[in-house]
Amino acid sequence: MASIVVVFDFDKTIIECDSDNWVVDELGFNDLFNQLFPTMPLNYLMDRMMMELHSNGKTIEDIVQVLKMIPIHPRTIHAIKAANALGCDLRIVSDANTFFIETILKHFGIRECFSEINTNPGYVDEEGRLRILPFYDLNKPPHTCNLCPPNMCKGLIIKRIQDSISSEKNKRFIYLGDGSGDYCPSLSLKEKDFVMPRKNFPVWDLICKDPSLVKAKIYEWSDGEEQERVLHQLINKISMEESAQFISTEFNMHTPSFSAHETLPKALHVLL
Ligand SMILES: [Mg+2]
Ligand SMILES: [Zn+2]
Repeated sequence: MASIVVVFDFDKTIIECDSDNWVVDELGFNDLFNQLFPTMPLNYLMDRMMMELHSNGKTIEDIVQVLKMIPIHPRTIHAIKAANALGCDLRIVSDANTFFIETILKHFGIRECFSEINTNPGYVDEEGRLRILPFYDLNKPPHTCNLCPPNMCKGLIIKRIQDSISSEKNKRFIYLGDGSGDYCPSLSLKEKDFVMPRKNFPVWDLICKDPSLVKAKIYEWSDGEEQERVLHQLINKISMEESAQFISTEFNMHTPSFSAHETLPKALHVLL
């Protein structure tokens, strides 16, 4: 289904936990993280935490080892592989970072399923320390979205993807997410699109406050099994709608008399 773009959040949507918290907890830096959390934006804090790990002798290999142990639901892996095999265009929009996401996806053998990963840049510097930078250059004029943190507005990323594919006919989006940062992109979706908020998570709460603000059709999910089932059903639904549309277009083109028949019920009604 080349006409379907499936956009995934990463933390608590593809993986079962939050990758930032997972790395910090597993390497034993939870207390420092909690102490610094109120003092700076999360994106800066993660860069700072990577500095703390490095200066306390934790290596990139230590970080990679804990990333490889991250919990991910087997049905989520299956759902991603199946959607990719069906020809859907899979992308990630996440407030984690490229280093965490790439390492995890490669480990589970699903990196190649995604055409694009939009997230904060993460790279290993010459000292062997992981650096995490903001997705947006904070020295440039800020984005004006008041729903999103300064380093990233996921709604703007969705709009950029929408613009980049607007020339292609009838692309339809399915967006999956759990966090408050997934609310803004949900508002950017169109009537023909679908949003899959994780039930009882922040984005679901925000959507439920006033579902009429969301133009896309809303399909909730709770766990990996339900996520796979709902995603599969939506892909099927879209492909059935499209083949129906295709058949009726073909039919109209080749049988001009078809449109004349459409007036028949009306004519009968007049006779009665
Ligand atoms: Mg998330
Ligand atoms: Zn936003």
